[in-house]
Amino acid sequence: MSKKSVYFVSLGCPKNRVDTEVMLGLTDGAGFRIARDPSEANVIVVNTCGFIGEAKEESVETILEMAKHKESGNCERLVVTGCLTQRYGGELEKEMPEVDHFLGSGDVDKIVGAIRGESARDGVSMDPAYLYDDVTPRLLSLPHYTAYVKIAEGCDRPCSFCIIPKLRGGQRSRAPESVEREVRELVAQGAVEINLVAQDLTTYGEDLKDHDIDLARLVRRLARVDGLRWLRLHYAYPTATSDALLDAIAEEPRVAKYIDMPLQHIDDDILKKMRRGHIGKTSRGLVKKIRERIPGVTLRTTFIVGHPGETDAAFERLCDFVRESEFDRVGAFTYSLEEGTHSATLDGRVTDKVMQKRQRALMRLQRQISRRKMKQMVGREIDVLVEGPSDESEYLLEGRHEGQAPEIDGKVFLALSDEGSMKAPRQGDLVRARVTGFADYDLAATAEAIVLPSRIKRTMKLPVIAA
Ligand code: SF4
Repeated sequence: MSKKSVYFVSLGCPKNRVDTEVMLGLTDGAGFRIARDPSEANVIVVNTCGFIGEAKEESVETILEMAKHKESGNCERLVVTGCLTQRYGGELEKEMPEVDHFLGSGDVDKIVGAIRGESARDGVSMDPAYLYDDVTPRLLSLPHYTAYVKIAEGCDRPCSFCIIPKLRGGQRSRAPESVEREVRELVAQGAVEINLVAQDLTTYGEDLKDHDIDLARLVRRLARVDGLRWLRLHYAYPTATSDALLDAIAEEPRVAKYIDMPLQHIDDDILKKMRRGHIGKTSRGLVKKIRERIPGVTLRTTFIVGHPGETDAAFERLCDFVRESEFDRVGAFTYSLEEGTHSATLDGRVTDKVMQKRQRALMRLQRQISRRKMKQMVGREIDVLVEGPSDESEYLLEGRHEGQAPEIDGKVFLALSDEGSMKAPRQGDLVRARVTGFADYDLAATAEAIVLPSRIKRTMKLPVIAA
């Protein structure tokens, strides 16, 4: 009898992608076949996001789309997991009879029971506590040369606009030995780039009473892993970004000179309403310190526009901050009223129209800054991680340099030099290249030499759809 097949959809952030990869590993380990197409699958699993309005809509649409395969395809069972279920479990059960099982964001380890139809329809644990480790089966969904490693789950911070602590539970860090073993295993499988993720990366280790560890020391420990080229840090919290961490990033050659630190806003009154625990001066000082301590660092940040109480003057202050700080990468989100958060109870609502106008204005400003910075790169030599043939042209490859994170930043379009002396690079190769052109967020470059050939060990890439 042929194996039952299971198809996975993974929505939301890289932390949710890691959960999907763990569920893939457990499902594969239980003897199921991983389907490449939902129409052929006996079971479909949708790992949802429930963070903000748009993400919730996308999750509901995807569930309804996958449910159609129960009528037209081979699908016998539809399982919904993740943050949307954690947030609206009870309501979803009533409103979505087409779904057979619901699991929460902390029920990743219960996926096989749900796939087999052995568990109750409502399998949502109200207090998420799960945390995978290095022995947990995990099937990776990104190509061999890069991977995410979740070093902690949950968050203890009170940011007033954010529902994540209610969806993911309190901060819980993995033991440093477990993180190190996983990173060593991923590098042994061919990864040259490891992206560390958590809800709040910079509070790593504070909850580990039996370990004298923090993010700075973990980074120095992981920087010892031979074969690793770029250890990249995502989701740093401003007030928890220590001098020791900046020193580790600056001094360790295998640590990408890249910091992703959501600042959310700069106006003191808005930061107070957001309960971020610091004033604008703190962010200004930190940006200055980071640039002084880590020359050439790539700084990524995100802002929320339209938070209750944001006046025209407060928004102008944010624009001034972006103008003077010249961040390399900026994400700007419109405020999303999330019931259950403190911000949802605040006066001074900003209309959607004004929010979107502010988001466009901020991104217009940032695009000019980004374009100027891209232009300054022309003529420079950079190392590019080859991701594969370009969709733009058959004569081009696509890749990323140290200042470009996977999935969220721009690309480098790579051409081979006319001399033809160089062997065509392969996926996963690190190539020395000279920048020849630029666009708003992307670069063009000519490959000069392969500085680190790919040590492909893991070839199979599984089709987890990340919408
Ligand atoms: S640190 Fe991030 S995840 Fe935690 S509450 Fe604040 S915004 Fe949410």
